[in-house]
Amino acid sequence: MSEQKISVSGASLFTDRSAFCHEMANILLQKRLDLMATLEHLKASGGTVELDQTLQGRLSRMDAMAQQQMAKAGHTRLTIELQRINAALKRFEEDHYGVCCRCKEAIQAERLMADPAAPFCMECVEEIAEEKADHP
Ligand SMILES: [Zn+2]
Repeated sequence: MSEQKISVSGASLFTDRSAFCHEMANILLQKRLDLMATLEHLKASGGTVELDQTLQGRLSRMDAMAQQQMAKAGHTRLTIELQRINAALKRFEEDHYGVCCRCKEAIQAERLMADPAAPFCMECVEEIAEEKADHP
């Protein structure tokens, strides 16, 4: 990543924070690999329910369906998490990782360490929650 690529507005943030942001991006890349492996595993295991009409078959079919439901729920959750991570990595590539997508202020380092894919600063998360509470 060259110096020229860093935007003027982001430069002051990233001269101090670039090492930190790189570290967070590495964590995100590792998380993305883990997630994709888990999603592959879910896809392989939660695919089809065998149609076995014996009593034991029906019971195991219910087990299989329950498992499939869980796999589906897990798959949805993991897909959303993967999208968040991809979005965060895209922000990193575009040199505005760690900057709040709403108010454009730097996101607190502690917050990024807890959730490296966080798109908003703490203040905005609270404001968004309040707005949602106002307009359910
Ligand atoms: Zn913000």
